[in-house]
Amino acid sequence: MKLSFHGADRGVTGSCHMLECLNRRILVDCGLFQGSRELAEENAEAFDFDPAGIDYVLLTHAHLDHCGRLPLLAKRGFRGEVIATSATRELVRLVVIDAAHLQEEEARRLAYHNRRRGQDETAAPLYTILDALNCLDRFGRTAEYQQPLQLAPGLGATFFDAGHILGSASIRIEVSEGDRVRSVLFSGDIGNAGRPLLRAPSPPARADIVLMEATYGDRLHRSVSDSIAEFYDAISSAFARGGNVIIPTFALERAQELLYVLHQGIEQSRLPPAMQVFLDSPMAISATEIFARHEECLDPATARLFREGGDPFHLPNLHFARETADSIALNRVTGGAVIMAGSGMCTGGRIRHHLRHNLWRRESAVVFVGFAASGTIARQIIDGATHVRLFGEEIPVRCAIHTINGFSAHADQRELLEWHGRISGCERTFLVHGEEPAMKALAGHLKGWVEMPRSGEALEL
Ligand SMILES: [Zn+2]
Repeated sequence: MKLSFHGADRGVTGSCHMLECLNRRILVDCGLFQGSRELAEENAEAFDFDPAGIDYVLLTHAHLDHCGRLPLLAKRGFRGEVIATSATRELVRLVVIDAAHLQEEEARRLAYHNRRRGQDETAAPLYTILDALNCLDRFGRTAEYQQPLQLAPGLGATFFDAGHILGSASIRIEVSEGDRVRSVLFSGDIGNAGRPLLRAPSPPARADIVLMEATYGDRLHRSVSDSIAEFYDAISSAFARGGNVIIPTFALERAQELLYVLHQGIEQSRLPPAMQVFLDSPMAISATEIFARHEECLDPATARLFREGGDPFHLPNLHFARETADSIALNRVTGGAVIMAGSGMCTGGRIRHHLRHNLWRRESAVVFVGFAASGTIARQIIDGATHVRLFGEEIPVRCAIHTINGFSAHADQRELLEWHGRISGCERTFLVHGEEPAMKALAGHLKGWVEMPRSGEALEL
């Protein structure tokens, strides 16, 4: 059995790992690199394996950094089967089409700029909406939590709830070797158990080899209740100053958790009921529909609420901005609004326009609720940049900046250690999906043989 690493090695984006055994090649995730220009260029480079030789892609979840290169893989010859949970499949569809749409827009914008400068260079998008649609044809079987699937004789895979986003999974690949079975567990992104709506992560009881994420391997989150109080405070003070609250987040899934928290804030009279909330995304759709279809991912209280016909996302003044014109109209809203738009790390998408209109205003606030990789605009702002470059302009950062890690979809150090501690029989642990300081801190606390592979590394197990 051979394990190789093709992304999110000593970094947090571009997740892609390969296991070769019993004459089959299995990829776990095929994510997009996000962050700096160099990383964006890396997406366009050839894969360091032959896409046509891959038999299966198992997807841990629908975040772009885990599924965003799937359209490229299919475009370059992959004809195997993609297997994911039903919620992941539904979300991936929206995520890759949205990504393709943004890339087409960006390519058109660049081509226009080039023409204006008298250059006739055209800019090709990384992939088009058609490519995104084509990769969806590769989806085959749907995985259910804890139900083993056969990939080939003697080769199986089982998905376990990772509690990270709707449909997220840790995936264990089981390989028969004579009369014993060896297993390799891919953690995917591990959830932060205290959050509302989703279930807590439930890893398998056993695995021989574990590949695990280390995003927050060096940090502890504040409690969810403290984070909620901080969030309500950030909103109330920005409104009192006459400003807006801008939240960079993908308009699906993570945004729904925030809608839930906003809904509770109004119910508990901690937020003004007249508050305007905008979900600014071409993919903005009713959260209720998507969550209600996936009871298998919900915590028992939320599942019960849906069964009884309740709507935990109901807000009296919730607006969806699907068209670009609706999004542009939001620029005229100068105060009293909560605006959520993607991307979460501000690497692209409509959020950049809202930042351009609000970052320089002392009365507004920007609230970060997710991890921001180094090199991204989000990270620059979090790290205290006084100016950031958006659309070729230097925008001063004068508004209030909040980073609320308790809302993070990722486990903190304590939860990562607890997750790992629940798996018995682990001989070797590989840390992936983390920046080096976080990995080193986590490695120092883990028991057994821990390695931090580099991209392109391959080893026989
Ligand atoms: Zn994720």
